Amino acid sequence: MDATTPATTTPAVLILLGPPGAGKGTQARMLEQRFGLVQLSTGDLLRAAVAAGTPAGKQAKAVMEAGDLVSDEIVIAILRDRLSEPDCAKGVILDGFPRTTVQAQALDALLSETGQRINAAISLEVDDAAMVERISGRYTCAACGEGYHDSFKTPAQAGICDSCGGTEFKRRADDTAETVASRLAAYHAQTAPLIAYYEGEGVLQTIDAMGEIDSIARGMAGIVTGAMT
Ligand code: AMP
Repeated sequence: MDATTPATTTPAVLILLGPPGAGKGTQARMLEQRFGLVQLSTGDLLRAAVAAGTPAGKQAKAVMEAGDLVSDEIVIAILRDRLSEPDCAKGVILDGFPRTTVQAQALDALLSETGQRINAAISLEVDDAAMVERISGRYTCAACGEGYHDSFKTPAQAGICDSCGGTEFKRRADDTAETVASRLAAYHAQTAPLIAYYEGEGVLQTIDAMGEIDSIARGMAGIVTGAMT
């Protein structure tokens, strides 16, 4: 066992909290690789449902385009299904869930059914003003999902993904300045109260997420190592 191998016996559950653009997805991917956990992004699951044209995806599409939150009922059902898949036994990093108190309570109920607990809810602290710039310049590799940014992180060789060599990149439909304003408002009204919720459960950790990606990742790894032992 090396220093990063979890000593936990039940699968770890980590929650990443933070406004859109805080870097939850980027950090979740790094934690996934380092700790062998599975990243569960409800945004990704919903975008897949929209692309596949499922009934849930059809209901979610316009809501997501407006930057509002999809109904708790839909999101909880999607998350519950995904959590029951076998790879989640490795432990999970929840990226973008829960986003409301109802979702947090539903997660507590789901975990108590399986005898699991939340190891840590990590709040990524950022300045709202910087988020619009971060979000409006970001894009990902269409093949592997590696994240990039027009100003902050471009591929070493223009047009070629550093991670997989892919040459196609995509931008999210909701990463526009107008939608970002709605998404930030939804975060403050509905999700930020979860910081106090998890503080009350004794699992809250906070991290300054305004710095360099790698230095934030080192801070996150320290928190996660502590939370899994
Ligand atoms: P994200 O990729 O996490 O930024 O999510 C993109 C969009 O998907 C959000 O703006 C919401 O419309 C929707 N969404 C993702 N996760 C949730 C959630 N837990 N609850 C409600 N809506 C969500």
